[in-house]
Amino acid sequence: MAGMVYLIGAGPGDNGLLTLKGRDCIARADVVVYDYLADKKLLAYASKEAELIYVGKQANRHTMRQEEINELLAQKAAAGKVVARLKGGDPFVFGRGGEEALLLKERGIAYEIVPGITSAIAAAAYAGIPVTHRRVAASFAVVTGHEDPARECSGINWPKLATGVDTLVFLMGVGNLRQICNELMANGRPAATPAALVRWGTKSEQEVLETTVKEAADDVERLGFRPPAIFIVGEVVKLRHELRWFDNRPLFGKKILVTRARAQASAFSECLEKLGATCIEAPVIEVVPADDNYESLDAAIAQLSSYDWLIFTSVNGVEYFFSRLEERKLDARALASAKVAAIGSSTAQALLQFGIRADLVPPQYRAEELVYSLGDAVVGKKILLPRAKKAREVLPDELRAHGAIVDVVQCYKTVKAKEDYSEIKALLAAGKIDVVTFTSSSTVNNFVKLIGDKSILPPNQIYAAIGPITAATCRKNGLNVSIEAQKYTLDGLKEVIEEYFAKKG
Ligand code: SAH
Repeated sequence: MAGMVYLIGAGPGDNGLLTLKGRDCIARADVVVYDYLADKKLLAYASKEAELIYVGKQANRHTMRQEEINELLAQKAAAGKVVARLKGGDPFVFGRGGEEALLLKERGIAYEIVPGITSAIAAAAYAGIPVTHRRVAASFAVVTGHEDPARECSGINWPKLATGVDTLVFLMGVGNLRQICNELMANGRPAATPAALVRWGTKSEQEVLETTVKEAADDVERLGFRPPAIFIVGEVVKLRHELRWFDNRPLFGKKILVTRARAQASAFSECLEKLGATCIEAPVIEVVPADDNYESLDAAIAQLSSYDWLIFTSVNGVEYFFSRLEERKLDARALASAKVAAIGSSTAQALLQFGIRADLVPPQYRAEELVYSLGDAVVGKKILLPRAKKAREVLPDELRAHGAIVDVVQCYKTVKAKEDYSEIKALLAAGKIDVVTFTSSSTVNNFVKLIGDKSILPPNQIYAAIGPITAATCRKNGLNVSIEAQKYTLDGLKEVIEEYFAKKG
């Protein structure tokens, strides 16, 4: 097959800002060539067999020179490969994409350009700054800041640019900021014109510096503000005060460690990330089938009609129970004669997916509360509890104490995850994690085992627990819980984390 090159705009950083076409091209590629501005998460769209080549390129720290990159693209394509060349932002906005395309053209190599969202507009938007706005700015220009304005014959027409365009966005301008601002003022742009720098725009590391043309260079020096950043000049900068939406979300910039079973970690992470957090998933438990090869569960299923109540205490319990039911060619009708209780709204939700609306969901999500809610209704009743192996004995004991006949059957068990923890340990030891979250006692116990040496944990490390039992397990392990959910659900945990940081400010 003939090779070809796709010059793809990878967007400004937030990996959701890649186009659908860009994603398809990455997936199709035999070789993916990327640099430091392209988010590494985009590489996940590449096929498993694809060759991934990092070509770096940070100001003054070139990993591979432009000529070598051009050569690499041409050679790979000439060898019949489909090459995806990922470039930060848009490939034709100061990305040297034009040069790469010209060389391919010269060599007779097929290419396509996949435009991307440029940082010039997107980093501004994520800072709450629209580059145009009715009555404030009718035009904008994207300008290179890389060129030394002191040069005798500048490629930039400063006299016209300084006052001829309402909003100016400089890329690669941090190093030359003083000359840029001097040039603007010398050519008639008022010194008090609002200006802003946006560093790592659209990413969780985004930093914004609001200033003026006069003060920008001094502010950048004083604060040690570093590239990559765009520099925006114009009245539109003021709109940030009203339109700021991204870097003022409640958990913006917070790094949160999510310790859950692998399969469940991402849903919780997603809901924290919507609030601006960056989540690091450290699965500490894995959910595996029961030890007895489902013997006791199968036996209970065989006589389901003899039970008055089925009590589900976890989503996993529901899922394992129903998959076993299905295995035996049965469905929800097998539960027709029993009443069903669920501990926790997620457990109730999981039941709904299998066509069962729980008869009882206790308002407080704890085992004790459930027994209390059932009250006298349990006397002499036969109750089935499909659940995890290591779950606490409180529920069956309490139910029996209230006169029920209880069968506990094991559907699944949780075991320690086999993960490499070295990177997570390093982050914890360096104090880089704002909160460690625990959603059950087993996540605590396994976290402590996986960490091994607890002395690496900073003494002021913040831990968040889903409820009092998990919190108690933390304390038993010497972890000091400062955030504890009031509602014992993931949503409840999310809420208290949010409140905690709102108070801290
Ligand atoms: N083709 C790219 C620009 C490449 S030049 C685009 O369209 O965005 C590199 C410069 O882009 C950097 O020096 C910086 O000024 C800017 N830049 C790229 N990504 C950025 C980001 N996430 N936040 C702020 N500036 C960014």
